Formats: sequence, structure tokens, C-alpha cells
Amino acid sequence: MVEDDDSIAEPLVEGLAREGFSVARVATGREALSGHDPDLVILDLGLPDMDGYAVCQQIRSRSAVPILVVTARADEGDKVLGLELGADDYIVKPFGFRELVARIRAVMRRMPEPAGDLVQDLGPLQIDRRTRKVLVDGAEVTLSPKEYELLALLASDPGAVVDRQTILEEVWDPHWYGPTKTVDVHVASLRKKLGNPDWIETVRKVGLRLGGALVGNA
Ligand code: CA
Repeated sequence: MVEDDDSIAEPLVEGLAREGFSVARVATGREALSGHDPDLVILDLGLPDMDGYAVCQQIRSRSAVPILVVTARADEGDKVLGLELGADDYIVKPFGFRELVARIRAVMRRMPEPAGDLVQDLGPLQIDRRTRKVLVDGAEVTLSPKEYELLALLASDPGAVVDRQTILEEVWDPHWYGPTKTVDVHVASLRKKLGNPDWIETVRKVGLRLGGALVGNA
């Protein structure tokens, strides 16, 4: 939230926190343009140090983050300018808190899933790479860090064989020359936890691959 007026910002920050949002508030355009990587920007146009439109334009020039512009300027031309400069929506002061929340949610709903922030869906298996959560038939399965990394590695190219050396290097350590038995132990445990042993296929003398029902869903 970029808002210089404490009497406006503070109740909004509190209210949004109650709604489950984590809000970082800054009071100047300069701060808004330095070192934050938010999921959404609430931008007041009347800032002490910079023109809000310029802030909007600069944020947009470097990021696809949704921008919700907040302003006292109710003029139609201002709204159009804000949207032309890359704002996703526009809310005019004074506004109700519920309206703000509704607009935030609407703007975020319209956003495509950010790249790299993927829940990989392999039919009965889902892997959330952001939270490292794994679901089998909708139920969360608790994996150890190595089990998760092994599964995520195999799932990065479903059906492709990943050789043992690559597995050791990627999941364990780049300089691993220890017993490859470690992999077998983790594979056995992973198969058991997933409840579908054929999901992790052993390719003799080569390595492992994702198999069974998962591959047709990739
Ligand atoms: Ca202001």
C-alpha cells in the first residue's frame, strides 16, 4: 500500500490484515519503487514526493503486478489516464472498506497464475512447488525434504528417465559419491507414502521415472 496519509492507511492496513492480507505500507513514491515485490499494489495517486501516475507507470514498466489506484480525483479523465498507465482498477475516495476488499479480490482473480508459481496437476497427484505440498487424491501426504525433491525432480519431466547420477546430484549434493543405496531407501519410502508403487518406476541400471497413471495425465 502506497499511501502518505496515516489516518487513511492505518485503518486500511488493520482491516486488510483482518481479511487475511499481509500488507506492507509505504508513504512515498520513492519507497514504492524500491525493494518490494508484492502480489498487488494499492496506490494512492496524491503522494508527497512524486506524481502517482509516474509511480504507476514505473511500476508497470518493470512488473506485471496488479495495481489498484486510489485517488480523490473523481474526474473521468483521471480514471482513464490511470488505466492507460497500467493500473488494473481504480477506486475513488471516499470509499467503503468492503468495496476496497471486493476490488482487490476481483483484480487478483483476473490475474493469471504467475509463472513458476505452479501447482502441477498429474491427475491423482498434485505438487505445489510454491508450498512444497503434495496431494494424493486430494489428501496431503507429508514427505521428507529429500522425498519431496526426488518426486519434484521426476515430475519436472513426467515419464522421462532420470539417471541415478543426476538424482544424486540434484537431490543430494553436487559432489555426492556415496552409496547409491540412499536413493533406494528414499524411493521405497516415497512409494509407500504415495500409496501407488508404480508411480515411481525403476528403470534397471539407468535410474527412475514417473510412471503408472501419472504419465497419461501430464
Ligand atoms: Ca495522499
